[in-house]
Amino acid sequence: MSTQLGTQVRALRVAIIGSGPSGFYAAEPLLSSKFNVKVDMFDRLPAPFGLVRYGVAPDHPKIKNVTKVYEKIAAHPNFSFLGNVCIGEDISVHELRKYYDAIVIATGAETDRKLGISGENFLNSYTATEFVAWYNGHPDFQNRHFDLNHEVAVIIGQGNVAMDVARILSKTVDELKDTDITRHALEVLSKSRIKEVHMFGRRGPAQAAFTPVEVREFGELADCDPILDPKDLELNEASLAELADPHNAPRKKNYEIFQELLKLGNRGKSRKFYLHFYRSPLEIFGANKVERVLFEKNKLVGEAGKQKSIGTGEREEFRCGIFFRSVGYRGVPLKGLPFHDQAGIIPNIGGRVSDAEHIFMGLYTVGWIKRGPTGIIGTNKPDSEETIKNLLEDVDKLIPCEIPDTNVLLEYLKEKEIKVISFTDWKKIDEAELERGKKYNKSREKFITVEGMLTAL
Ligand code: NAP
Repeated sequence: MSTQLGTQVRALRVAIIGSGPSGFYAAEPLLSSKFNVKVDMFDRLPAPFGLVRYGVAPDHPKIKNVTKVYEKIAAHPNFSFLGNVCIGEDISVHELRKYYDAIVIATGAETDRKLGISGENFLNSYTATEFVAWYNGHPDFQNRHFDLNHEVAVIIGQGNVAMDVARILSKTVDELKDTDITRHALEVLSKSRIKEVHMFGRRGPAQAAFTPVEVREFGELADCDPILDPKDLELNEASLAELADPHNAPRKKNYEIFQELLKLGNRGKSRKFYLHFYRSPLEIFGANKVERVLFEKNKLVGEAGKQKSIGTGEREEFRCGIFFRSVGYRGVPLKGLPFHDQAGIIPNIGGRVSDAEHIFMGLYTVGWIKRGPTGIIGTNKPDSEETIKNLLEDVDKLIPCEIPDTNVLLEYLKEKEIKVISFTDWKKIDEAELERGKKYNKSREKFITVEGMLTAL
């Protein structure tokens, strides 16, 4: 359409919606490309970094160091952060197209998958994602109440999120108090009566989705014993074949760690973390509040690498006071864009937003909302690079936007009384949080409301 886009005459204007890892890994190749590109990154919160800030566990601070890389990207003169702007509410994607030649959706997976069992909505039945967002200080989740006044907690799912939840419930306050967990969460956890955390996987020990580092930690906790049933560690032929496959090295390592944890036995610590395999929840019982969970024992069927769990018909009830489901995140639709409901993603071809009939020229997607909620932070780098390569290939086909000026957009948002937060503003909030942390001998004390963040300015 235009040969001028991306030149010194007229910069290619790209809006990135979402400031998590996939958003930053999309900004980087745009800014370092041969084209003259202006990147404006939006987030509905005043704070950037998405799941690095609100998902990564507080007791895994090294993982959060990746924000240093994102800060370098944000320092590029052609990069702007526009925080506290909710695309879809404050301004629609359709309206945004007036100001940008291309839009990259990097909104991640904002909700979670359901189990679809009766009792799932009872009191004391929680989602891992809301618990994680709560203890990490996400403003949308601070009104949640987690009733830890029970001795037995059940977690369904064996991914790293389930591991994070189990560890936070199993650690002592001393093990958490220096971190950036919120003081409110620490206070609630300090009164926790939980003695047993039971994590259930529907498949076997050779299929657990968590990574070795995460499970090994359970052998090193100050006041918690990991407990496994040796019978659960028996493997069928197909599982043995899976573990012999070099591609499955992390799962083989997991299995070796299970044997090590088994040897530790019960050391008399006051909390216990139980890992159960081959069990699926069928129903939660109680008087509108979690009291018991009915499980069915499973067996694995299918060839190595494709084994599925099926019920054996053998059932058992399990008493517990609180229940967490942790069976994966799920993307939510963005108004005006196509959505693949079953997969919970924006349908796309190599990151170009598309539906069954056509490609939506100028619209792109990256990260979990592009591919589904899989992989670690680094997985987003090649994923975003693929999308940006395709976007830059499209430069000549893009329709230049009507108003190629961020200042006009800022005026429009100001008229709507939206206080837009720049990266410089964010750095002030960041400083204030670090200062608050010092006061409480913690690495950081987050503001847990948007108002709190804005007041810090
Ligand atoms: P995940 O890794 O996909 O794990 C989901 C778990 O839920 C699996 O054990 C899965 O079992 C189970 N599951 C799914 N549907 C189920 C059902 N109907 N009944 C029972 N179990 C069911 O998801 P996640 O834990 O939410 O993590 C998301 C991504 O973030 C992952 O890639 C993870 O590694 C990453 N992450 C990384 C870290 C870290 O590096 N420290 C921390 C947090 C998250 P099946 O295998 O049988 O499907």
